[in-house]
Amino acid sequence: MIKLTAGDIFDGQKFLGADRCLILDDDGAISAVVPRSWAGDGIIEVEGWLSPGFVNTHCHLELSHMQGLIPEGTGLPVFLQTVMEQRETPAPEVMQDAMARAAAAMKAEGVVAVGDICNTAASLALKTQPGIYWHSFVECMGFIDAAAPRRLEHSLAVLARFKEKGLPCSIVPHAPYSVSATLFRLLAGMENNTPVSIHNQESASEDSLYRSKTGAFLDFYRHFNMDISGFGMTGKSSLRSYLPYFAATPRMLLVHNTYTEPEDVRYAASREQEIFWCLCPNANLYIESRLPDVKTLMNEGARITLGTDSLASNRQLSMWEEISAIHRHFPEIPMAAIMQWATLNGAQALGISATYGSFEKGKKPGLVQIHNGNAKAYTI
Ligand SMILES: [Zn+2]
Repeated sequence: MIKLTAGDIFDGQKFLGADRCLILDDDGAISAVVPRSWAGDGIIEVEGWLSPGFVNTHCHLELSHMQGLIPEGTGLPVFLQTVMEQRETPAPEVMQDAMARAAAAMKAEGVVAVGDICNTAASLALKTQPGIYWHSFVECMGFIDAAAPRRLEHSLAVLARFKEKGLPCSIVPHAPYSVSATLFRLLAGMENNTPVSIHNQESASEDSLYRSKTGAFLDFYRHFNMDISGFGMTGKSSLRSYLPYFAATPRMLLVHNTYTEPEDVRYAASREQEIFWCLCPNANLYIESRLPDVKTLMNEGARITLGTDSLASNRQLSMWEEISAIHRHFPEIPMAAIMQWATLNGAQALGISATYGSFEKGKKPGLVQIHNGNAKAYTI
């Protein structure tokens, strides 16, 4: 039995104070949280706070070799254009090395689970290693409607590689501006495919595209000689345009939400399924120099999670840096709320809260020590 006390203990939802003792079984499973005075002898004093392990709900491990390559503050369409034009496949060992370093940094910081976007099976070998729970979101894209069956087939082949290894995975749309109506319908029709994640309203141009077929994405399509004459605007926001396709998907993870309006949050809340809102503040600052309307999301009761996005759009893959960015820009938001986004809510979004996200009896959520402004995995 292991007994830990700390300057404070965050249990996944609230701070318990300094007079509590966290008791774990020898295998790391949570046994109880009791008053310190009940815990008897052999208590280990941990400096700083203790928290359950972090859950990063949005990452692109495959882009780890792109650290520092893409200029900041260009806005999303130019960012995407630059990524696509620089996206020469590096030598396999360069990519594997960058992914291994990024995964090791996350593990050292106390990340225990990651929702990771995959366009290929490059991360497969790494994900069969123990240490981090990975849910691979195999991403499908194609804005030209006629190409939808071929695009789906390509992504299903990648998905099959993850399934063969028994790794948790689902097939997901990339974004409203890169997925055609037919492809949306095909993806939404996949069975036993949850959660579904999608990049949502990361740029103002996404809503202009759907509302009025105007905005910077038209330049983006033109740049790549894409004929989008088949795209029919809906006159509605992008969220309202695509969410109805997924009526039968029990759990959705909407990522970024930088330009989501309050009425869209209310619309999403009116849907039957569980919806989680993943924020990646440092990536939003990197790409669009803007943050989502976090207060509105909170006021509307949105279930928020945090993600790091990729090293193409972030200086590091650090959940603590994401927590700190929110805290710095919105000091009025209680730290307990932000910590819950990074732990319990993330675990619920990935469907793994029976094991991860909070200090409840029987769970093995991992431990993070936060001390002197840094977070690191605490190993017992
Ligand atoms: Zn992303």
